[in-house]
Amino acid sequence: MKALIEQYFSIQVMDIKNLGGYDNANYLVKTASQKYIFKTYRVSDDDTKSFLEAENQVFRHLASMNTSQSIKGIDDQYVFQTEFQGVPIIIRLLSFVEGDFMGDVPQTDKLLRSFGHFLGEMDLKLCSFQNYFIQAHQHAWDNKNWRLNQHSIALIENPSQRKLVEHVFLNYEEHVVPKIPFLRQQIIHNDANEGNVLTKNGVVSGIIDFGDMAYTFLINELAIAITYAVLDQENPIKIACIIIMAYVKKNPLLEQEIDVLYYLIETRLAISVCNSAQGKIQNPENAHIFTSEKAAFVLLEHWIAINPIFAQNEFRKAAGLRTDTPQSTASIISQRHRSISPILSLSYEKPIYMKGAAFQYMYDAYGNAYLDAYNNIPHVGHLHPKVVTAGQRAMARLNTNTRYLYDDLNVYSEKLLAKFPKELSKVFFVNSGSAASDLAIRLATYFTKKKKIVVMEHGYHGHTRNGIEISDYKFNNKKGLGKQDHIIKAEIPDTYNGKYKNNDGTAGLAYANDLISQIMWSKNEIAAFISEPIVGCAGQVPLAKGYLAAIYPEIRKQGGVCISDEVQTGFGRLGDVFWGFEAQAVVPDIVVLGKPMGNGHPMGAVVCTEEIAKSFESGVEFFSSFGGNPVSMAIGLAVLDVIEEEQLQQNALEVGNYYQNELRKLQKENPCIGDIRGSGLFIGIEIIHPQNQSPNRALAHQIKNNLRNQHILISTDGPFDNVIKSKPPICFTKKDVDRVINAIMEVLGN
Ligand code: PMP
Repeated sequence: MKALIEQYFSIQVMDIKNLGGYDNANYLVKTASQKYIFKTYRVSDDDTKSFLEAENQVFRHLASMNTSQSIKGIDDQYVFQTEFQGVPIIIRLLSFVEGDFMGDVPQTDKLLRSFGHFLGEMDLKLCSFQNYFIQAHQHAWDNKNWRLNQHSIALIENPSQRKLVEHVFLNYEEHVVPKIPFLRQQIIHNDANEGNVLTKNGVVSGIIDFGDMAYTFLINELAIAITYAVLDQENPIKIACIIIMAYVKKNPLLEQEIDVLYYLIETRLAISVCNSAQGKIQNPENAHIFTSEKAAFVLLEHWIAINPIFAQNEFRKAAGLRTDTPQSTASIISQRHRSISPILSLSYEKPIYMKGAAFQYMYDAYGNAYLDAYNNIPHVGHLHPKVVTAGQRAMARLNTNTRYLYDDLNVYSEKLLAKFPKELSKVFFVNSGSAASDLAIRLATYFTKKKKIVVMEHGYHGHTRNGIEISDYKFNNKKGLGKQDHIIKAEIPDTYNGKYKNNDGTAGLAYANDLISQIMWSKNEIAAFISEPIVGCAGQVPLAKGYLAAIYPEIRKQGGVCISDEVQTGFGRLGDVFWGFEAQAVVPDIVVLGKPMGNGHPMGAVVCTEEIAKSFESGVEFFSSFGGNPVSMAIGLAVLDVIEEEQLQQNALEVGNYYQNELRKLQKENPCIGDIRGSGLFIGIEIIHPQNQSPNRALAHQIKNNLRNQHILISTDGPFDNVIKSKPPICFTKKDVDRVINAIMEVLGN
């Protein structure tokens, strides 16, 4: 190398040191009086030379900004193609820019301000810089070209990290693409990271390495600079705002540019981790490639916990732009009630005006982000990108009904049924849990030709006429219509509040025996027994151990069928089992599905035995316009794939056990926590008056509303509404659990 430098640049090299590099090599070269950076490049194609020419031009264009300058070699040339150890290489020499790297000095507000000023000034100068090669170049490190990184997503090994990257790229489509016509484009440095920015006396003094220079959105300069400045920092928005405020003093920005900044910062993070994934395979020894990978994932996880509206508003304020005032909650409620009946309730004393969500977070219109420890419908996480993409693609291809042939009906049915014991081999698709339970009752009565239905105390199965008739929670409400004659109500086998408490199987058997004596008198008229494995509206009460195993045979003896309503308990939420009935070691004749099935897309199904389906076939045609449509099938498939890929049933088990353990620790200090029950991420916390064990609705509501004010969503349920329910998306983490526990501790004054 020394010989090459001396030959081409006519200088006397005293010392040379390899500095490493991303995809080219860099050397620090010392002569008796000067320092230089010597760079070598692989000869891959003509592009390298054209790019280096462009870089030389930009150096000259920014001569006043303390960037490197290219050193002229022999024949008045800057760049040479030569050979090193028989391998062709391209070489050049740059002046050495003095200063400490930004990454090596303390990050003060003064430094950040000078950073903003520097970038603003540089971009203003670059605005008049033109280079056709750069303008035509498709650069994978340019946010605008994120699609060039799409193939690398599959190389990210951890599926929970992969989904974050997919989410970011979907966000780009949704939030950046529509604004592209308004985004100014020019050549920018495109990599103002802490290893390229130089400082002197605590302020930014220069910048090096224009190797990623691109013709792209001007705002990407800030997006990238901010990304690296906030890595490993606690308050990224605050840091971003200091940089923005200084930048706009030199180079004002447009509202549309500021509004995409949140999304472009996360896009840079996503591109960076895609490159690391690719680099691990192509170049596993090059540590340079992984420098920011870990911190990038940490920031991506942190980023989804920030409401984009909050970021946008803060960025707008920093840029001296106006912020939008959203409609007030009061006015949106009154607008709602002009067309929507108040019989549809709203959660919390202060209802929440939602605007967006991501995985276990929900975002309101005012910039708050809520940790969702409550909603079980977005089972694999709000807006899971695999589910969203599956739906979008299917909708753009074909949406029709089961009277035509299409692939995904067969594919999904087989995949879904494979999750059941082999006896359950037929499926009917509908669009809600209510439609499913209604159909289940029709199937049962058609099959048995009997009328009586045994239902569970406090059970809920849906809002159709059949649904209400079989839902004690509704018909037995003080405003309800009461129990119909064909309904037999079973006492809930509750081992906390009920009369038998020993949950080692004895209580289950005792409750079962009570029901058996009750139905003995029904003279073989029972069509069905229906129950949820954990009775949600009872206050998340799991059926006592052994209960169903004792009941099912008795129902069948009377010619009836056994229905398990898995609308809430299905799809792995319970952790140790995929379906709730498995925990009771029984196989139902009919299973009702809903809620988590489509992760929020309206889907329901009835799964039953061949025999029951066969009997139904002798009746009138069954048709549901939307049940089983190709879009729903694609979505259902994506949900099952995500549960498997991200091992979410296992996550529900581990995080759920941790959750219950932490709650038990809390219970030791707080006798107002009477009971903690449930399974996996299906948890009930019964709040009582310790003096007499009676329900303490007021405290349960205080906890619920206080947590809401701390931006954590949970709810209450049960006949006395004193049971806190927590059924979060099953991507919930132990860290999320800690947040909930700390918030409850705060309310309880611990
Ligand atoms: N069954 C159970 C156990 C439910 O919890 C619900 C809804 N809460 C239903 C059925 C009815 O489902 P949907 O609201 O989708 O009609």
